[in-house]
Amino acid sequence: MNYNLLETSIEYLKGVGPQRGDLLKQELSIFKYGDLLHLYPNRYIDRTKYYKINELFNNHTEVQIVGKVIHIKVVEQKRGKRLVATFTDGTGEIELVWFQGIKWIKDSLKLNTPYVIFGKTNRFNQGISMPHPELELLEEHKKNISSAMQAVYPSTEKLSAKISNKSMIKLMQQLIMETHALFTDSLSQDLLKTLGLISIKEALIQIHFPKNAEILAKAQFRLKFEELFYIQMQLLIKNIARKGKIKGFPFNEVGSYFNSFYKNHLPFPLTNAQKKVIKEIRQDVGAPAQMNRLLQGDVGSGKTIVAFMSCLLALDNNFQACMVAPTEILATQHFLGISELGKAMNINIKLLTGSTKTAERKIIHEELENGSLQILIGTHAVFEDKVKFKNIGLAIIDEQHRFGVEQRSKLWKKNHIPPHVLVMTATPIPRTLAMSLYGDLDISVIDELPPGRKPIQTMHFFERKRLTVWHFIRKEIAKGRQVYIVYPLIEESESLDYKNLMEGYEGISRDFPLPQYSVSIVHGKMTPAEKDREMERFSKGETNLMVATTVIEVGVNVPNASVMIIESAERFGLSQLHQLRGRVGRGAEQSYCILMTRDKLSNDSKIRMETMCRTNDGFEISEVDLKLRGPGDIMGTQQSGTLPLKIADLVKDQDILHYARHQAIQLLKKDPALELPEHQRIKNKLALLNKKATIWNYIS
Ligand code: ADP
Ligand code: MG
Repeated sequence: MNYNLLETSIEYLKGVGPQRGDLLKQELSIFKYGDLLHLYPNRYIDRTKYYKINELFNNHTEVQIVGKVIHIKVVEQKRGKRLVATFTDGTGEIELVWFQGIKWIKDSLKLNTPYVIFGKTNRFNQGISMPHPELELLEEHKKNISSAMQAVYPSTEKLSAKISNKSMIKLMQQLIMETHALFTDSLSQDLLKTLGLISIKEALIQIHFPKNAEILAKAQFRLKFEELFYIQMQLLIKNIARKGKIKGFPFNEVGSYFNSFYKNHLPFPLTNAQKKVIKEIRQDVGAPAQMNRLLQGDVGSGKTIVAFMSCLLALDNNFQACMVAPTEILATQHFLGISELGKAMNINIKLLTGSTKTAERKIIHEELENGSLQILIGTHAVFEDKVKFKNIGLAIIDEQHRFGVEQRSKLWKKNHIPPHVLVMTATPIPRTLAMSLYGDLDISVIDELPPGRKPIQTMHFFERKRLTVWHFIRKEIAKGRQVYIVYPLIEESESLDYKNLMEGYEGISRDFPLPQYSVSIVHGKMTPAEKDREMERFSKGETNLMVATTVIEVGVNVPNASVMIIESAERFGLSQLHQLRGRVGRGAEQSYCILMTRDKLSNDSKIRMETMCRTNDGFEISEVDLKLRGPGDIMGTQQSGTLPLKIADLVKDQDILHYARHQAIQLLKKDPALELPEHQRIKNKLALLNKKATIWNYIS
């Protein structure tokens, strides 16, 4: 493709000029020829089909009718004037209505002359109207080629007033006429043939002016493939470069820590998924390049033991390991879990959080520096300057999106070689998104739950059914079970939420009175020590109910708790609901999740509740979440950008994404440095994309 011509400023295109040029720039960010070429139609309409007025019944459908204007009048209203024309085709009459450009239309409109009109219809009282129709004399219309698939381009209110869709099509015609000779493929002929792709030239012409639906589908596939293929190429090349450049400590030994744990101290047989992931990690840390791996696993899938066994690999090679969690409660849970796993093995494991006492802190600092502390578990506190490892070989980060990259690298400030990094996330990221955003990380997935888990039953109740729910909880408590009741906490309305929580707590304390019942409460205004005390009472079974804000969202493990009630569930996002639900279902008993909502729900909320009741699969849930919220939001603040996709859709085009990624991997296997002559164009295009820095801003 000749980039010079496509870099031409848009106002120079015949039919554009400075005024329309400015509009295109402001409204659609079309600055250059190339931008316009890649403005793809939203949809296509059939301009070969004509309707009869007596066939019209639906509102708002776009229809094309041949007929005549038989009467025209200006109607004066308080809010302004409108022009109303009566249009007939012999089968009935409709009203054409204009609110703008009245004088011009009134003067130019010919009465009793055949026109082709096109537009959306509205039904009013007994009749049908068409506001601001496209009008063309039948005679003229016949001269123009009308296509069964006419492109409808994205537009804005401001733009459509000055450049109609019809004009846009004309501009596109002009543009393609001027530039099409320069459309050349970056993929080799051989590759196109093997993949069954049409040429880029054909694709670009057909996407704007499709001959038929079949060729349009091919054009769309080709352009989506192109877009996704190059993103994957960039990510994969970045990954290869990282492996080549960033040295890592090779953990050559699988030594006595790992082996003796595996042989003698496994508390349960590992699931196949856990084994698979541990193998992937072992291979990775055994190589002389830094591991940078994302470990995904649904809540309760057993990531902790994988993390622990990874630490043992570090220990076997005389390195220290560190594990960081976003909250104190979670860090403490990890500490307890990992200490339990390591208890028979005489490993020095310590916990460092904001509330660690000075004396203990001093010991930790010393032991870290002299190397006797082997595994450090903690919160943000581990990033402090005073915390210096003798030789950290593995850093495990739980819940990736809460720590920035810079913050992480503080961990190994003293190392000349960075440690291996394992990022664990309990928020499953949809596969598609992971592939697009983290294509440069290696990904391990635990896609299997430990055996014997009974799927959690989820139910949705409206507020008015509260007594039924209370009745149900009393029965569960009578069986010896414990119950979580969670209230939303949204930062902006913190004080209001706090009030709701306290009111809820008072209500619950009344409905579940002492001495028969006892109720715990944990919320953000308590000190860490107070929270811990309350959590401990609950986990020891001293209290029956735990009323909390979302502080228990991650990591808490109380297997005897079998009911999770989520208040105002409509205010939680899907992934949060799923995380919360994951707090139950950890024991052998049947567990329940109850979603309480108000009666009136938005459509999105309804979908969220239905999804939760339908499935326990975190990946399926995150796919729905992706559809509801779009990719940007899901990633939280760190990765808030979405990929700059022009035609492909991460949700709808997953198959093409997988295919493009597969092809990119194959190609790089064959020719990692893109040295073959047939790959030179690909290499050039990548260089150009890199220069434009299209996607690095979006990737951590
Ligand atoms: P998460 O992935 O949510 O961090 P955990 O590591 O906390 O999950 O594990 C959840 C529960 O499942 C823990 O009680 C743990 O002991 C148990 N568990 C993990 N792996 C297995 C297994 N292979 N067989 C049986 N129980 C397991
Ligand atoms: Mg966990």
